[in-house]
Amino acid sequence: MLSSLTITEAHERLKKHTVSAEELTKACIERIEKVDHRLNAVIHRNFERALEQAKEVDRKGEFDHPLTGIPYLAKDVYCEAGVPTTACSNVLREKTYIPPFDSTTTRRLKAVGAISLGKTNTDEFTMGASTETSCYGPTRNPWDSSRVAGGSSGGSAAGVAADLCFFALGTDTGGSIRQPVGFCSCVGLRPTYGRTSRFGVMSMASSLDTIGPLAKTIEDIAIVLQAIAGKDDRDATTVDVPVPYYRKALTGDIDGLRVGLPKEYFIEGMAPDVERSVRDAAKQFEELGATIVDISLPHTKYATATYYIICPSEVSSNMARYDGIRYGRTIGKPQNLLDYYERVRSEGFGVEVKRRIMIGTYALSAGYFDAYYRQAQKVRTLIRRDFEAAFEEVDVILSPVSPTPAFVVGAHTDDPIAMYLEDIFLSSQVLAGIPALSVPCGFSKENLPIGLQIMGKQWDEATILRAAHAYEQATQWHRKKPML
Ligand code: GLN
Repeated sequence: MLSSLTITEAHERLKKHTVSAEELTKACIERIEKVDHRLNAVIHRNFERALEQAKEVDRKGEFDHPLTGIPYLAKDVYCEAGVPTTACSNVLREKTYIPPFDSTTTRRLKAVGAISLGKTNTDEFTMGASTETSCYGPTRNPWDSSRVAGGSSGGSAAGVAADLCFFALGTDTGGSIRQPVGFCSCVGLRPTYGRTSRFGVMSMASSLDTIGPLAKTIEDIAIVLQAIAGKDDRDATTVDVPVPYYRKALTGDIDGLRVGLPKEYFIEGMAPDVERSVRDAAKQFEELGATIVDISLPHTKYATATYYIICPSEVSSNMARYDGIRYGRTIGKPQNLLDYYERVRSEGFGVEVKRRIMIGTYALSAGYFDAYYRQAQKVRTLIRRDFEAAFEEVDVILSPVSPTPAFVVGAHTDDPIAMYLEDIFLSSQVLAGIPALSVPCGFSKENLPIGLQIMGKQWDEATILRAAHAYEQATQWHRKKPML
């Protein structure tokens, strides 16, 4: 099947002219049409434009860039000129928001000739860990349709794992690339905060939001990161640090690499299959010549609680623009201004978005700011210092991605705290702003994928990619595909 090729493999064929961009695009479209009714990963199909673009690329016939002619899917928060973008929220869906401009990332991809196939499902405004809060309904896990694909980039992860595209774009505010990738068995990277531009990507929590790629192999991640990374004048939080040539880092050699294993990430209640797979992965690293070092990140236990103060606080401010005047659905015949705001916002937003606006507004209010928000910012600093100290001793840190494999659809619907605890291993890195990725490391007894998290120093994506690539080459977990 053509759509199951990696970017690297597809690029080789394009260069030799044994396949065309149009054929690759058609292969993805056929695959989406054949299997997506079981997944609900793609919520806006941009097929006509994609085919036109592919034909244009074929006409030029130049395939020097590894992404030229390669079809991809973007999470439904990336603005693309002329393409409906709704953040999977009724607030924007009912008015079909069509952005007049491109996000920096999709613009950079367009410039090298990558082909946008459409938009993937996400939790509403990316708030969630299961893609169940989407106004389009949940995305199903390609390995077991009774289970969630994870979230919030669940549509992107299921799309890559089910070969609907060659790569996808996601966002990771508190784990939303790494967790669904772990649940669906593909690869995903959350770059260092500031490495990729947030311009044109709908904001959830601005000091945490990071945009990044999902793909089938580490090499493909390196290719996409190369194309999207780097300073952007339109996003003042991007930083002008050199972007290395990432593929050069993929040597397969990790001899002498110091790998930390933090004791706080092996907790009571985690699934035995997850613990076993991650410990086996650590052994594999040792066999490849790395040294395993037991480390401690003592403030880990506060990370998720801290995240769930800072994130909703920023959410409460970012959601203010969806008032039906600047953006979003509006209502007819309000009785007065208050009635207008109450109805427009309470009818438009889903339960989880409203919960976060309430928590955030409370945490930022005059009487509680010091007790919650300021305190959370202090703990954030302690968590960042934990990593700084650890990275004096080690080059990368290994951990599980999630405490269990994918859960059943609806399992946490009435229990937001249980849903928040899904992020238990994923909140620290975002508070510290460091890069982290998820790579497949095994399967549970029920044949559900298990992910391995690899974290690195700020700006040092190259080393985590090198480590993950060496591991991937030695283990081949990534070759296993779901039956669809
Ligand atoms: N599960 C996390 C949350 O609900 C992560 C969301 C994200 O990274 N977008 O906030």
